[in-house]
Amino acid sequence: MKLTGIHHLTAIASEPARNVAFYTRDLGMRMVKKTINFDDPETYHLYYGDESGAPGTLLTFFPFPGVRAGRAGSGQVVAFAFRVREGSLGFWKERLEKLGHGHEEESGRFGEKMLSFRDPDGFRIELVESEPLPGITAAERAGVPPEHALAGFHGVVLRLDDPVPSAEFLTGLLGADEVGREAETHRLRLGDEVEGAVLDLMAAGSDGQGVGGAGTVHHIAWRTPDDEHQEQAHQQIREAGTAVSPVTERNYFRSIYFREPGGILYEIATDPPGFTVDEPMESLGSRLMLPPWMEPHREDIEARLPGIAGR
Ligand code: ZN
Repeated sequence: MKLTGIHHLTAIASEPARNVAFYTRDLGMRMVKKTINFDDPETYHLYYGDESGAPGTLLTFFPFPGVRAGRAGSGQVVAFAFRVREGSLGFWKERLEKLGHGHEEESGRFGEKMLSFRDPDGFRIELVESEPLPGITAAERAGVPPEHALAGFHGVVLRLDDPVPSAEFLTGLLGADEVGREAETHRLRLGDEVEGAVLDLMAAGSDGQGVGGAGTVHHIAWRTPDDEHQEQAHQQIREAGTAVSPVTERNYFRSIYFREPGGILYEIATDPPGFTVDEPMESLGSRLMLPPWMEPHREDIEARLPGIAGR
């Protein structure tokens, strides 16, 4: 099975305007698509990424105004790490302080230099110094110069009652490699050293079962190069006896969904066609985009969505 890393990570937020402000104004990410949840048209689906919306940079949210806060715990992706270039942690530390966001400088897992903080809904974000993801595009945005821009996913942290079956599922079926073990943490890598991502699987400990809600991850999507590789993955997952959805058209990629043994929802998404399929690169994210089958209902849909200061 050819999975080359993380395609996107989708989380739940509460107030959409606050979510937009944090990720675009504070973290300097670009909103690369403003659309709706295709399965729930009264909810936005907001995508943040690099300038081009490259797979591997995409953090996406379903914001539900007023939704209760979730609780991070077992059966969830509980944190993610972005890459920043060597020497950028100082810039980010200063910027977060100036913006009044608490943060911690940590010696991260496996000896990595790391800065951690939380988004407005309490979701844990880590910045780790490493090489930028190949193929991404950086530009000055919201006062973040290109050399300090977030440079793609470094990895994710998965919390599980028992990390062993989940690790075996990733290595045995999805093609991940075990690259390290530190105390209770199993570190796997999906994809190669340059483009791939590290997956840190940790035992739940005293955190207990995770509860969905604002500040928690809905699912994680792994990347595959094209439809043919997705079809191969689909077949292999079925043959392994794991229930998997049919291929679903997501307009910007095609997806299949299934659950790993610890209960975390996985998706496999194709790299193509990408975010310029319905609007040009220069204006990505500036207008509410709807898939062709929802376009006839645009007026109704827009009337039901809360206002946000998109950019
Ligand atoms: Zn997804």
